[in-house]
Amino acid sequence: MRLILLGPPGVGKGTQARRLADHFAIPHVATGDMLRVNIRDKTALGMKAQKIMAQGKLVSDDVILAMVEARLQESDAMNGFILDGIPRTVPQGVGLAAILERLGIQLNAIVAIAIQQDIVITRLAARRTCTHCGAVYNLVNHPPRKMGVCDACDSTELIQREDDLPETIRKRLDVYNEQTHPLLAYYRPTGLLKEVSGDGTVDEVFNGILAVLLARSTKT
Ligand code: AMP
Repeated sequence: MRLILLGPPGVGKGTQARRLADHFAIPHVATGDMLRVNIRDKTALGMKAQKIMAQGKLVSDDVILAMVEARLQESDAMNGFILDGIPRTVPQGVGLAAILERLGIQLNAIVAIAIQQDIVITRLAARRTCTHCGAVYNLVNHPPRKMGVCDACDSTELIQREDDLPETIRKRLDVYNEQTHPLLAYYRPTGLLKEVSGDGTVDEVFNGILAVLLARSTKT
């Protein structure tokens, strides 16, 4: 299964991508996570990206595309992958199409998760992320079993991402509306775009995604 997951920040892309990765036993390729690892490890890329990310802006297309092209050539991505966080702009969509063509990769689907903006703002403000394993929680609808402790790795470093602060959330939503949303129109003519509601529990949204993916595969 080779998928792109699209949707505004806070729609639950990361959570759904992790579940899909488990379900299909394929890697979750999340550009935001890759950048955060670079920031944590203080690489040259991380130093450059940190300031841009903290402002809710986008890292340059060249940097992102090069990072993803290298990632897709790693052995674990040979049998499939879920792209989360890329493409973020139509030029990235064009660049990604060129990469996939170069690597001889055909996508199975582009899944776009949609949600109302006010729900997203509330969700993001309550999001907490484990700095060790990347697990994501929501203090309102998906808290860790023990407050402040990661269910997955027992770390006590559950933090609010710098870019989940209210003013940065608004900036990220503006960036999404202006630069990422036009990708839906870009992908619609491919016939691969599947739109799913993100307004539901994690299970409901996951089942909605599986339903559109299976509906597609029974046709082919
Ligand atoms: P995310 O974890 O996907 O919400 O990404 C967090 C931040 O990383 C974004 O707000 C951007 O600053 C940066 N980022 C992640 N993916 C991309 C991308 N494809 N293009 C540009 N910037 C990105």
